[in-house]
Amino acid sequence: MKKIAVIGSGTMGNGIAHVFAQYGYQVALIDISQAALDKGLQTIASNLDRQIKKGTLTESQKTETLARLSPFTSLAEGVKEADLVVEAATENVELKLKIFADMDTHTRPDTILATNTSSISITKIASATKRPEKVIGMHFMNPVPVMKLVEIIRGYLTSDETTQIITGLSRKIDKIPVEVNDYPGFVSNRILMPMINEAIYTLWEGVAGVQEIDEVMKLGMAHPMGPLHLADFIGLDVCLAILNVLYEGFGNSKYAPCPLLVNMVQAGHKGAKSGQGFYDWSNPKELKVARQFTK
Ligand code: NAD
Repeated sequence: MKKIAVIGSGTMGNGIAHVFAQYGYQVALIDISQAALDKGLQTIASNLDRQIKKGTLTESQKTETLARLSPFTSLAEGVKEADLVVEAATENVELKLKIFADMDTHTRPDTILATNTSSISITKIASATKRPEKVIGMHFMNPVPVMKLVEIIRGYLTSDETTQIITGLSRKIDKIPVEVNDYPGFVSNRILMPMINEAIYTLWEGVAGVQEIDEVMKLGMAHPMGPLHLADFIGLDVCLAILNVLYEGFGNSKYAPCPLLVNMVQAGHKGAKSGQGFYDWSNPKELKVARQFTK
């Protein structure tokens, strides 16, 4: 494997592209939005600077990493030489089915097609292609350059060979792969999202404020970040999309998204990436609670 294409240059896509380029792979970074590509490349450059400050990267490694990245707004152009494509576009099932059908047309037949989806069925995504044995979930964690886990999700038809190649590749980029099966939310989000949703219900019902809920979980449960802070960091639209997949996938009301979360996403308050969520992100170093949240 030498050439990797990453689809989507948002929160996750730019992190995935960053890591592959840092470990010597040629990376095509693809987004429909030129502004998202520009922002993604800027984020990669500033995250590389942070690694230099920490002493884990040199200036020349930064220059080499950036030189391995090529931006594309055309999927057909960006994926045509790829040995592997990692799709990290918006969490929307129809969009992903369309992207996988397009990738099936525009890549070589032996190219592995991975998705970074947080919750959508790998088996369903694979059904949009003629190579379901080469479709797999490669679920990176946010922020990708920092977090070690890659949840490897085997779809119903994913082959052993594909699984072994992707597991081995994850180790080559210094990540730790953990293999799981394809059911709604996999392991990570089946456990994490109900906790975040419960934190939002706790806020909405007036049990405690944003900071109090986050402090209880940080100090009491040794979580590095409180659940509302984490939800802002993940993106409230992403959290809502995952909860809807769990709700529909299991048909169980315990996964019903809190109405406050639905309202916030509808208002465009998506957390860190939009500037407002449970916190006001205009100065990320000094986060303040965004507003009074009442039922
Ligand atoms: P994001 O909103 O930050 O970025 C999505 C990007 O996809 C945008 O730049 C958008 O322009 C682009 N896009 C939309 N349609 C496209 C298309 N047809 N072709 C190319 N690009 C397109 O979203 P994100 O948080 O980076 O999430 C991306 C994926 O990663 C989702 O499937 C999400 O569930 C998953 N994920 C997110 C997190 C997280 O913490 N945010 C963690 C793990 C996995």
